[in-house]
Amino acid sequence: SERTLVLIKPDGVARGLVGEVISRIERRGLSLAALELKNVTEETAAQHYAEHQGKPFYQSLIDFITSGPLVAAVIEGPRAIAAFRQIAGGTDPVEKAAPGSVRGDFALEVQENIVHGSDSTESAVREIALWFPGLG
Ligand code: ATP
Repeated sequence: SERTLVLIKPDGVARGLVGEVISRIERRGLSLAALELKNVTEETAAQHYAEHQGKPFYQSLIDFITSGPLVAAVIEGPRAIAAFRQIAGGTDPVEKAAPGSVRGDFALEVQENIVHGSDSTESAVREIALWFPGLG
């Protein structure tokens, strides 16, 4: 079994898609290890997106992710990291995300793409420690 960090970004919360995303996670057979509605500080956002620092879309991404409450979750199950990436769909909702994925079904823009999921074991460990420091 494996754990991954999921964010339902401020656009997903504002559009009322929290239940939809959680439902897809649960119906797939993954389970929740942690779940919290959070207002994100600039500092947490900067740490989360450290790998994108210096890119043209960086400041816009930080402004977006701190623009309203988001839902952070740790989900758990066999191959949870890859399974959630599949549930999410590709980063670009139109060019990459398949219909049937969260992004392919609900998003149109690269930045406002509803969800985040850790992309590797290393990212998952780092991101879970960042968002849920108390989690064993
Ligand atoms: P996430 O890390 O959120 O799961 P990802 O791994 O699919 O997304 P990354 O390339 O790591 O994609 O980009 C992180 C996030 O930054 C994207 O989900 C998106 O919100 C935003 N982003 C990425 N590329 C662009 C871009 N060219 N323009 C605007 N925003 C972008």
